[in-house]
Amino acid sequence: MILSIASGKGGTGKTTVSAALTSIWPRKRLAMDLDVEAPNLHLFLGPEISGRRKSMIEVPRIDLEKCTYCGQCAELCQFKAISVMGEVILTFPEMCHGCGGCFDICPAGAVLADERELGEIAWGKGDGFDFMMGRLRIGEAMSPPLMRDVKALGDEMIASDPADVIIDSPPGVSCPAVNAVMDSDVIFLVTEPTPFGVYDLKLAHQSFKPIGKPMGVVVNRAGLGDESLYDYCREQNLPILSEIPYRRDIAEAYSSGRLISDLSEDLRKQFIDLARQAIKMAGETAAPEVPHHA
Ligand code: SF4
Ligand code: SF4
Repeated sequence: MILSIASGKGGTGKTTVSAALTSIWPRKRLAMDLDVEAPNLHLFLGPEISGRRKSMIEVPRIDLEKCTYCGQCAELCQFKAISVMGEVILTFPEMCHGCGGCFDICPAGAVLADERELGEIAWGKGDGFDFMMGRLRIGEAMSPPLMRDVKALGDEMIASDPADVIIDSPPGVSCPAVNAVMDSDVIFLVTEPTPFGVYDLKLAHQSFKPIGKPMGVVVNRAGLGDESLYDYCREQNLPILSEIPYRRDIAEAYSSGRLISDLSEDLRKQFIDLARQAIKMAGETAAPEVPHHA
């Protein structure tokens, strides 16, 4: 199964929840950090990185000897990455999304392949889990193609060695966030009971609803704010799966990069229960015994 941990805004505790769930997950798992603009799951999980590779995207370069300036490539490109004006053709590789359309449509075979570096993919292992992350190159604007590359590598890994996947998704509700959660079996929305948290939870809930996957809410810093979060979840039949209390020791663990599931037996049990709920929401009834976390 694939579980995505998402949130309508940054700073809600999404990565804290992803890391804690990874540490107690009762089955074989791959922790995948798709928050490629600011990946930090590794800071909590401390995996040993065993491999890295660059992630590249194919972008067009025009063979001016062959180009007839027909303009079909510019007309096709939805991202304005090619422009044809009379007998001048310009390409803007930074705007290319790598869809490949211009390569296919050119009747003169004038579109040649160049590459642009998107970022890096790193992988390795931690205490009982596999790990993978993407990191967007500084200055690169397009994260979805890098995220697709990370996911494709993850798919290869679990095809040869099956495992559940726990995805730390990018915050927000734009294209990268939707890309991260769209193949999931279950989506957890992490929020806090403040007016900002409720507002962004509504956006995330409404944006991901059309994907049609089971969703549930994890309330972080429970005890803050007011009742509006609970009212919204009740109205929407959106289950609240777990509430992480607003406590100083939890905030200190988070700020020093420690797993909050290691703080107390109660918190550990709370995350084990959350993992079991995720497995059940994915329609997988039997969760094997939970190994004791070292
Ligand atoms: S489609 Fe091919 S021939 Fe036409 S303008 Fe583009 S590169 Fe040139
Ligand atoms: S590959 Fe797609 S996005 Fe990139 S320039 Fe060609 S048509 Fe545009």
